Amino acid sequence: MQRLTTISAVRAASRKARAENRRIALVPTMGALHEGHLALVEQAGREADVVLVSIFVNPAQFGPGEDYETYPRVLEADEDLLRQQGVATHVFAPTVQEMYPDGPAAQRAAVIVDQLTDTLCGAYRSGHFDGVTTVVSMLLHIAQPHVAVFGQKDAQQLAVIRRMVRDLHLPVDIVAVPTVREPDGLARSSRNAYLSPAERAQAPVLYNALRAAAEAVREGELQGRPLVRRMQARVADAPLAEPQYIEVIDADDLLPVDDLQPGQRILLALAVYFGDTRLIDNIPITVPSRT
Ligand code: AMP
Repeated sequence: MQRLTTISAVRAASRKARAENRRIALVPTMGALHEGHLALVEQAGREADVVLVSIFVNPAQFGPGEDYETYPRVLEADEDLLRQQGVATHVFAPTVQEMYPDGPAAQRAAVIVDQLTDTLCGAYRSGHFDGVTTVVSMLLHIAQPHVAVFGQKDAQQLAVIRRMVRDLHLPVDIVAVPTVREPDGLARSSRNAYLSPAERAQAPVLYNALRAAAEAVREGELQGRPLVRRMQARVADAPLAEPQYIEVIDADDLLPVDDLQPGQRILLALAVYFGDTRLIDNIPITVPSRT
């Protein structure tokens, strides 16, 4: 596995792979890798011959007061994990200066997906998705992969990136990987490391609330509001949990749905604070047809 730190080195590796008719998969991450990321890399290995994992804590997607400075940066440990797994062929770990030579604030070009970024996390993290779509399109232009792999864990990010690729006719397939969870149901996240033992003990409430609502849909509930109330009640059982949003939304336009249509693809989604730590989770479901 090779560590690349410059854009020109990635371009050269990509050109070489394409000249040899090898398929390239890109797995964009911010590092502090865990089982969730490794599942993406595993999938990338099934899709392509060259698997490039980017590790870049992108300043442009953090808002003021968010955890950009404290976000875990453990490149050596990340590379050890990837080497053990044996799937990644290249790691791209650029400096901020490599990606933003004049600093992120001096960027004048951006890729923006509107509307889909106004709801859910986008409503609370102003500019976050503009930072994500801009850096992902930079990575796609630099690496020119055939496939890029993303986690269902970040459902809104996935929908926004799919839309960017569709609207801009970008020549890449977007592949999604289901959320990888701890044995107690908590979605794996680099931010779980911020939780105190008491918060960690209560954090499975996110998935429990989502599962309760998914169960209700399976049992025939077709109204959004009672589903939201059910999830709110579950989350309220955890005294340390402070919900930011709890929603039932359409999986494509990400707008809240009240009347669920049979066959409709929806997301049960929530963001919950434990102290300063913000956790998100979701369950995608297709509303069952009435029998
Ligand atoms: P991040 O490093 O948090 O930016 O995440 C990089 C990629 O890993 C994104 O596509 C995430 O959706 C994905 N990811 C993060 N956590 C998980 C998880 N628990 N299961 C599946 N994918 C994940």
